[in-house]
Amino acid sequence: MLRAGAAIGSRLRIVKAMPACRSLYAGSAFEPTETHGKLREMMRKLAEQEVDPQAKDFNRDERFNIPLFRKLGDLGVLGITVPEEYGGAGMDATSACIVHEELAAADPAFCLSYLAHSLLFVNNLARNGSHEQKREYLPRACSGELIGGMCMSEPDAGTDVLAMRTKAVRCSDGGFSITGNKMWITNGTLDGNTTGDAFLVYAKTGDPASRDGLSLFLVEKGSQGFRLGQQIKDKCGMRASMTAELVFDSCLVPASSVVGEIGGATKCMMRNLEVERLCLAAMSCGIARRCVEVMAQYSTERSSFGKPLKSFGQIQRLVGESFAQMRAGRAYLYETAAKTDLDSIPSAGAVGRLDTDGAKLYCGDMAKRCADSAMQVMGGNGYVGEYQVERLWRDAKLLEIGGGTNEAHHKNITRDLTGTGGRLIIP
Ligand SMILES: Cc1cc2nc3c(=O)[nH]c(=O)nc-3n(C[C@H](O)[C@H](O)[C@H](O)COP(=O)(O)OP(=O)(O)OC[C@H]3O[C@@H](n4cnc5c(N)ncnc54)[C@H](O)[C@@H]3O)c2cc1C
Repeated sequence: MLRAGAAIGSRLRIVKAMPACRSLYAGSAFEPTETHGKLREMMRKLAEQEVDPQAKDFNRDERFNIPLFRKLGDLGVLGITVPEEYGGAGMDATSACIVHEELAAADPAFCLSYLAHSLLFVNNLARNGSHEQKREYLPRACSGELIGGMCMSEPDAGTDVLAMRTKAVRCSDGGFSITGNKMWITNGTLDGNTTGDAFLVYAKTGDPASRDGLSLFLVEKGSQGFRLGQQIKDKCGMRASMTAELVFDSCLVPASSVVGEIGGATKCMMRNLEVERLCLAAMSCGIARRCVEVMAQYSTERSSFGKPLKSFGQIQRLVGESFAQMRAGRAYLYETAAKTDLDSIPSAGAVGRLDTDGAKLYCGDMAKRCADSAMQVMGGNGYVGEYQVERLWRDAKLLEIGGGTNEAHHKNITRDLTGTGGRLIIP
């Protein structure tokens, strides 16, 4: 069942919701057009008024705020990169970065669940699915009626993802039987007791010992043989985002659940990884920006030895360096976003692939350093949960692990920079 208005082009809803006056933000590298500026304005308002106030409680209690998440559907941003004919906003990579940056400045965990849904499930399906699959799933996913995720990692295959063991075998009726365990799945459960609503699942349809023959399947909650293994609790950070192990025990899916071509899913994976990295970098920029704001304000209000903290050179260094690094990260991010084509398949040595790895690598480390500096500026107050920085500091660490570890980015960048025949490719 579609919720009312789910099939209406969401881009129209975003723009209609905006006041007619010129956006405060339009016209820079970060908001190249008026529509980008309006999108930022809308997201910043939402983040300040509704996402920020709930962040502390939901993170402490390890709960996911589903009503607030569905509100993103009402605003039209759950399908930010999806064509309007399927209920999406039909917007570009820069727009996706804006939404992630603004949400992460308030609550990175809530934003991580948004990323898993809007990019790992929704964008992946929009780019790789058939017209029938898109027509059936995307309007419900864009409205928030259905909350999705993506299953790639396994207990024994993370960075070395092509070593995955989950396999799918064709049944006599033309459908498939999927067997294997998927680990660390964001939105894998929403309530802690059952699986989440729908997933894109990577599995081997060729020899499981081979690195080839990867296929992609759509699996819905309630499919025979599909169940929740465990909710992964007590994470260091990102605690308001639900993470789970999912079990596929001879899980039966129809032939119509194959996304793309049998054996052709490595392309789907590569195509989606680029925008994922970009938006994880955007999350880092949101965290860093928030930390710079917090430390600048705190150093103004707090005094020591009869003077505000901001008058001490060592504090100025923390504030000044954080600000410059945050600005450098944002510039790299939005420059890369502007040249990212959501429909292309990144190839070896492609400029886009190098820079999505580069932006995520730089921004992840930069966010962690900014959060660390903010905590240092705040002393004891920075170390306790009452202030935002302690949570942002824990959340920032995930951005050096999820969507590719730092070491994976080092490897990819070096491989792509040096090319195949030892030819250097410097964009
Ligand atoms: C909160 C959270 C949410 C997640 N959400 C999802 C999700 O929704 N879907 C999904 O599929 N996955 C998800 N993941 C999984 C994530 O993508 C993996 O954790 C990540 O890819 C790393 O894999 P791993 O944890 O198995 O570490 P490993 O691959 O075991 O790596 C361990 C260490 O060894 C290093 N290493 C490995 N190989 C090399 C090498 N060749 N050279 C140098 N160093 C190397 C790594 O960089 C790392 O430092 C999530 C993870 C977390 C923590």
